[in-house]
Amino acid sequence: MTVHKYSDIKLLVKTESFDSIVLQRGERMSSDKDFIKQITKRSDDFSRWYTDVIKRAELADYTTMKGMMVIRPYGYEIWEHIQSNLDKMFKDTGHKNAYFPLFIPESFLKKEAEHVEGFAPEVAWVSFGGDEELEERLAVRPTSEAIICSMYSKWIKSWRDLPVLINQWANVVRWEKVTRPFLRTTEFLWQEGHTVHESAEDAQSETLRMLNIYKTFAEDYLAIPVISGMKSEAEKFAGAESTYAIEALMPDGKALQAGTSHNLGQNFSKAFNIRFETRDQNLEFGWQTSWGVSTRLIGALIMVHGDDSGLVIPPRVAPLQAVIVPISRGNWKETVLPEAQKLFSSLKEAGIRVYLDDRDTYTPGWKFSEWEMRGVPVRIEIGPKDIEKGQVVLVNRINREKSFVEIGNLMIELNNLLEKIQKDLFEKALKYRKDNTVTNKTLNDLAQTIEEKRGFVRSGWCGSPDCEAKVKEKTAATIRVIDNKKESGINKCLVCGKDSTDTVIFAKSY
Ligand SMILES: [Zn+2]
Repeated sequence: MTVHKYSDIKLLVKTESFDSIVLQRGERMSSDKDFIKQITKRSDDFSRWYTDVIKRAELADYTTMKGMMVIRPYGYEIWEHIQSNLDKMFKDTGHKNAYFPLFIPESFLKKEAEHVEGFAPEVAWVSFGGDEELEERLAVRPTSEAIICSMYSKWIKSWRDLPVLINQWANVVRWEKVTRPFLRTTEFLWQEGHTVHESAEDAQSETLRMLNIYKTFAEDYLAIPVISGMKSEAEKFAGAESTYAIEALMPDGKALQAGTSHNLGQNFSKAFNIRFETRDQNLEFGWQTSWGVSTRLIGALIMVHGDDSGLVIPPRVAPLQAVIVPISRGNWKETVLPEAQKLFSSLKEAGIRVYLDDRDTYTPGWKFSEWEMRGVPVRIEIGPKDIEKGQVVLVNRINREKSFVEIGNLMIELNNLLEKIQKDLFEKALKYRKDNTVTNKTLNDLAQTIEEKRGFVRSGWCGSPDCEAKVKEKTAATIRVIDNKKESGINKCLVCGKDSTDTVIFAKSY
């Protein structure tokens, strides 16, 4: 019997010698039309592959309004797993959720000068309520510092009121010129934490605590390795004292900023008059932070883990961790299906997110491809022969490796495999990042790296904005973070040759 890999099958589809293809489990395709539509190969056109996968896997869809996307149920479910896990991490560190208005009066937004300047080009405005022109325009929040600070100035009177540790899950609007699903859309979902503290030290430790939570979440749940560190002045949040970020390297060699944590110092508390009586009965402005991650994380996950067959979703955030495909042969509905249903119930009861694909309108082969494309980490196959042997077949989405497992051991083996997939995805991405991180000592070397293969470039930097701007002008690469580990051997600025104050990581970015 000829055995084809699924990748071979997709190529053969084009040649129309399709009916003769025998699938691995001995099933025939019923017709060409039944087979899932092709997605562009990732290696051929990364950008098209990305949008193909999003559409085919039904994560999101475009609307008639430019830059506005719909997150479809399968995509939204990934967001729900991101939300629930992060929310727990926030609450475990003392934060509580609240909700503030979508609209911000123009005068509020103008209070912090840098803030308004930074966001003005992207703000959507409401000027009318029904037919009536408003006395004051309302901004649709691009971020909520202004509205939240206006309330904090009412609520905070004494050191006894501090710290205030509030998070909001919300949508925000930024009128973007160039948009891409999940990565940059006019409206997106996110969480924004806004805290107030008694001292500069407390605000700084909160800033770093949340940065670390983001790093842990990205690595442990999304299986995406990230570098973290402070941003340069040019790259920091409008109105912040300092901004810290986590940055992930995408398979096209570009960096994606995946989360930010800002130390706002007293910039906003002075602008909004958030003052409190200190322990020694003086008046002091509060020390603030804000921090956020968005649905952009889904974009990162798609890019980092996907392959030519479609999505690969890390088990911890996967809407479905396993799918059961009964092998439909002969009187399978009387023989195989009841066994598959038993498996389904026991896995579901054990807390596995599982789906039993018992549709009889599709062949098992079609279903295999469909669920691979949708990135379900483990496929469980069960057929008449398996039942005779008291086994099922587990198939690993990353490499299609099969393991034959006694039904009695299924829970243990499945959990092990899910853990292994979670870990292997991270290791694979980490290896890619290591292979694509280089050290460059001159601007010319950096320009060549960015031109030829992109990736992360570690360099020395004197701290001057001019030198930073020269790199951007010549290569379009920017400082993603200032590395906290100063590397020996990198001691000169790559542009001016003066002593470097920091080791920085450059990359082209999304
Ligand atoms: Zn320099």
